[in-house]
Amino acid sequence: MPTAPETGGIVTIDTAALVENWRTLGARHGAPTAAVVKADAYGLGADLVVPALAAAGCRHFFVAHLAEALAIRARLPRAWLAVLNGPLPGTEAEFAEHEILPVLNSLDDLARWSALAHARGQALPAILHLDTGMARLGLPPRETRTLLAEPERLAGIPLHYVMTHLAAAEHRESPLNQTQRARFAERAAAFPGIPTSFANSSGIFLGPAFRSALARPGIALYGGNPTPDLPNPMRPVVRLHARVLQIREIPPGTPVGYEATWRARRETRIATACVGYADGWPRALSNRGAAFFDGTALPLVGRVSMDLVTFDATDCPGLAANDWLELIGPQMPIDTLATLAGTNAYEILTSLGPRYTRQVRTQA
Ligand SMILES: *Cc1c(COP(=O)(O)O)cnc(C)c1O
Repeated sequence: MPTAPETGGIVTIDTAALVENWRTLGARHGAPTAAVVKADAYGLGADLVVPALAAAGCRHFFVAHLAEALAIRARLPRAWLAVLNGPLPGTEAEFAEHEILPVLNSLDDLARWSALAHARGQALPAILHLDTGMARLGLPPRETRTLLAEPERLAGIPLHYVMTHLAAAEHRESPLNQTQRARFAERAAAFPGIPTSFANSSGIFLGPAFRSALARPGIALYGGNPTPDLPNPMRPVVRLHARVLQIREIPPGTPVGYEATWRARRETRIATACVGYADGWPRALSNRGAAFFDGTALPLVGRVSMDLVTFDATDCPGLAANDWLELIGPQMPIDTLATLAGTNAYEILTSLGPRYTRQVRTQA
């Protein structure tokens, strides 16, 4: 069991499983595979995740913000780092200074990056993002046509990759997958000799037609199921334990928690644990979730509070104050938890709060 006297919740990262997941994804992709480590490696802690993947041979890392890239750059001076959200106006020089690749999402991004290359008299590499059906980021079709008509806009910008992003890859049957594949094949062909970057986690499982020179998985590295209609092919990476602060016996009829949404029907033992919605433990789990101790389920009763949560421990007489309850782990996978909370594994992981102690799991 974890030990950390100052903490109410412990996130444990299995870096061996993380590395194995990266290798599994690479084997499925059959081509180079990056790691998406935005949002502090989906809440797990980029300072734990990035060195582990780099040591295993991962050479490409994507984040969303420049600040995230700079934090990694400070630890890995040579890593290939790309910023998905692109260069905010005024940040271009900092990208160049730290050799961080911007993903160029518009002709405007491209113009500012090209202007900097011109001003420095230096080729400045980048990644070009084409929107093929998500209408979120990337050059819309009209801007792509403009660029192809005026290729001098790319002067001074060696492109490492032309990329696009799938909108519905986790839904294998969605016709959008084939639409985006066809559009990307056609538009990327207009940039001859430039490698492509296509699939996210779920896209890797759509088959060889979705292969590219660089896949960009995120959630599956961290144990999320990239094939929601099939058993999870990934190994779990994250565990979350919460400390029990107090245990009390209450008589039948006693209300528990804010707004008295739950009442004991029998003599009940209530265990109050040290995690709440401020830690990213979803309030939507009120009267729905569960914790586990020694294989026994403890139903979550009452509302989730900001810093606390209450469980019915009546069937778990061995539980005592300062024991650790499993909130995420073999008995409660992140996808199951997400379904209970009415969200997805991405939101569960990226909500894991800053008050947790994060530690690497060293033994099986
Ligand atoms: C977040 C993101 C990814 C990773 O997606 P997963 O579904 O987590 O594998 C890949 N590409 C882009 C552009 C993204 O924004």
